Amino acid sequence: MSLPTAVTSAAAHAVQTGAPFAEKLSNFTYLVASVLFILCLRGLSGPETARRGLFFGELGMFLAVVGTLLKVGVEFGWVVQTYTLITVGIVIGGIIGTAISLKLPMTKMPERIAFSHAFGGLATALVGVAEHSKGISNWENPLTHHVEQLSGFKMGALGFESFLGFLTFTGSIMAFGKLQGLISGAPVTFKGQNYVNIGLFIASILALGYCAFAPDLSTVPVFYAICATGLALGVMAVLPIGGADMPVVISLLNSYAGLAACATGFALNQNILIIAGALDGSSGLLLSLLMSKAMNRSFANVLFGAFGTDTQNAALTTTASKPFNEATVDEAAEVLKAAQSVIVVPGYGMAVSQAQHAVRDLANQLEKNGCEVRYAIHPVAGRMPGHMNVLLAEANVSYDRLFDLDDINDDFARTDVVLIVGANDVVNPAAKTDPKSPIYGMPVFNVELAKAVLVLKRSMNPGFSGVENELFFFPNTTMVLGDAKKTLSGMVSAVKDEGGGHGH
Ligand code: NDP
Repeated sequence: MSLPTAVTSAAAHAVQTGAPFAEKLSNFTYLVASVLFILCLRGLSGPETARRGLFFGELGMFLAVVGTLLKVGVEFGWVVQTYTLITVGIVIGGIIGTAISLKLPMTKMPERIAFSHAFGGLATALVGVAEHSKGISNWENPLTHHVEQLSGFKMGALGFESFLGFLTFTGSIMAFGKLQGLISGAPVTFKGQNYVNIGLFIASILALGYCAFAPDLSTVPVFYAICATGLALGVMAVLPIGGADMPVVISLLNSYAGLAACATGFALNQNILIIAGALDGSSGLLLSLLMSKAMNRSFANVLFGAFGTDTQNAALTTTASKPFNEATVDEAAEVLKAAQSVIVVPGYGMAVSQAQHAVRDLANQLEKNGCEVRYAIHPVAGRMPGHMNVLLAEANVSYDRLFDLDDINDDFARTDVVLIVGANDVVNPAAKTDPKSPIYGMPVFNVELAKAVLVLKRSMNPGFSGVENELFFFPNTTMVLGDAKKTLSGMVSAVKDEGGGHGH
């Protein structure tokens, strides 16, 4: 059955059954919201459709909230207090959310996501605890014996939801702290740490099984022990992971939050939560796996490998160990003017210096001179998936100019100039040649095969992985040291001044 047909027949079914109108309407909005969530994910899978996908997601969430408000009316009666409380919550949350989105720069996006996941996890966990206490009060109060009792299934779902919700809460707070520099970004490890974490996880799942098997008053302390273990595990599991791997962790925690929401849906009999939670859980997990793959690291290595322990401290040198070619902005502009083909490789430094508009201006100028300009986008360039795409889209760079690693890697050998804008690890040849390098095996761009390589960065410092980049010392590489945005603006003026198409 096609999706529109499914929606119409479900609506018809809701109308035929004798449920109150508000409930029927609520179920209908849930169904439409679920379809919109699926369309949202589909849209987000490509840059051209991402904006539309996001709009579908927003509309879906709006409908889900409206549907829930209608349900509140059905379950609690049209109680003014309930709606007043909800309105106060929406206003406070809305103000905080608006302030965060206006104030935080793009470079802080991973931190923002970690922060909001923390609250998502906490909300889910608290719903679980509240539902559990409601169930207990029914057990304790003889007057409520006739009320539907907490079943083993519901107990299991509530325990799972609270455990994962609390784990997501503390885990995300830790991830936020590491990214923000509030706690050390270095992996904190001790002997047997992974065994302790895995042991605690298995113990919690067994305890959950116990609660679900025989739910009665004796399981109450066990339930709270599971919640406490969730809180502790969030901290313990993120401690051994280096700050730089946090985006993968955040994506994984996102998937936990999704699973927790899914369990909430089962516990509360809320279809929208089951569907949205399952979508969130699976897409978060897939994203974490894809990110690990793009870094050529196993998922287990990210989670348990304490990556960067030695290298991060060892390699932070400001001075280069060998001689290298250096050029002024004007000299580098001359090289660009003579080029017929240029590939721009953006990296984290472009995000830091917010150089995307200057990159676009330079590309426009070069194109006016008859040069072909393309962009090579590495899957893990920057600090979050799609980081470079978002920035370049913001600067109105056309999508058809952007090329994935596999689509452009063979073209470097036929290119006049590669312009590296604040990228480092993604162009480090050691990933191909040095089996001892921590980034060995990560797919990287073959930039060194181009006729000339211009590298725009501020110093000879290493990038995220902390390893030195041999590329900077190659004979066809020229370093143009300085803030990328400033350098690029200087290049635009230099190319403009003497441009006009006589460069080649
Ligand atoms: P890197 O972190 O390797 O290098 C960025 C470079 O930008 C630095 O060497 C820095 O050099 C330079 N830089 C910083 N500020 C500026 C500035 N204002 N102007 C000019 N240059 C600047 O970035 P890449 O994008 O090459 O690689 C991304 C790394 O992040 C990979 O190792 C990847 O595995 C990792 N990662 C990516 C994730 C993702 O989802 N994208 C997630 C987790 C990790 P200098 O200080 O000298 O200026």
